[in-house]
Amino acid sequence: MNTIIINGADDEAFLDAAKALREGNLVAFPTETVYGLGANALSTDAVKKIYEAKGRPSDNPLIVHISEVSELNKLVMEIPEAARLLIKAFWPGPLTMVFRKSNLVPDIITAGLETVAVRMPDSPIAQRLIKEAGVPVAAPSANLSGRPSPTTYKHVMDDLYGRIDYIIDGGPCQVGVESTVLDVTTDIPIILRPGGITLEMLESVLGKVNTDSVLEIKGNIKPRSPGMKYRHYSPKAEMVLISGKADAVAEKINKLISESRKQGLRVGVLTSIENANKYDADVIVKAGSVKHAEQIAAGLYDSLRTFDEEKVDIIYSETFEEKGIGRAIMNRLKKASSGKIIELKGDN
Ligand code: AMP
Ligand code: MG
Repeated sequence: MNTIIINGADDEAFLDAAKALREGNLVAFPTETVYGLGANALSTDAVKKIYEAKGRPSDNPLIVHISEVSELNKLVMEIPEAARLLIKAFWPGPLTMVFRKSNLVPDIITAGLETVAVRMPDSPIAQRLIKEAGVPVAAPSANLSGRPSPTTYKHVMDDLYGRIDYIIDGGPCQVGVESTVLDVTTDIPIILRPGGITLEMLESVLGKVNTDSVLEIKGNIKPRSPGMKYRHYSPKAEMVLISGKADAVAEKINKLISESRKQGLRVGVLTSIENANKYDADVIVKAGSVKHAEQIAAGLYDSLRTFDEEKVDIIYSETFEEKGIGRAIMNRLKKASSGKIIELKGDN
């Protein structure tokens, strides 16, 4: 397939892409979170192409993107009061809400669930594309299934060039991690995936918000959000997280580096700017400053993809504080490492 790459500021090409989207083709586009791979959400045939292009398991439902709140009415059975408050506070923005679905939503989008996930993105290019297409747009992240999500058009090219119809280049994404997915069908809404709108922000509007137990407990619990069960966001190399006090972590990582090197492995380290000069690895990627977690989030997937480009065999990573956007960062790092964490206690 011939993939056409267009600049988000090129008006004529943009309208072509919007038309192609409406007519059942695949268009990758920037949002404020990550790049999405869009298809006409009302067309089963179009949505099927998303699963094929990504190699996405068919039991992992998609988020439907809209450009105006009024479009939500058609997609859902009801809009609970909590959702109304959150729409006022955070839409457009990186908050996806899960509602009971209407009959208009094809089963292929929801993977057979009775619920549908909906979001109104804040990025002007995304908003305009949905508006010009004139239909709701189903869009997962525009990466091959399992890989780190794309936050630049180049990341999309690396994964999907030749597999989709259009890529719209709109520069790097601001938030850098996916939207928060919140189930609003229960009395107390439940966070199914931490993301751009933090727990603290949700609590400031709703008071109490629950967190899906699968996000906290390791083990074989059926997640309410099917996507959370897959290995995800992963660089090609094995990744291990090391948590504890900064100096102990650095000492442990340096020990691991030298052990890995003895085995002839090429070693990468993901570190904060503050700790970067403590390591002696083949590839050191600075995630950002611990004082600016939003910076770390914005560059996280680019950092993970850098290890692929550098062809490292193993990655040792520091952990980051689990508050605010830090919860989303740690959720992604835990998934990327398949939960391999070394927790250093005390003076270890
Ligand atoms: P992605 O498309 O990569 O951003 O992932 C979308 C996330 O939303 C996945 O974790 C899905 O499992 C989740 N999701 C989509 N629709 C639903 C739904 N109806 N109920 C629960 N989770 C959903
Ligand atoms: Mg994804």
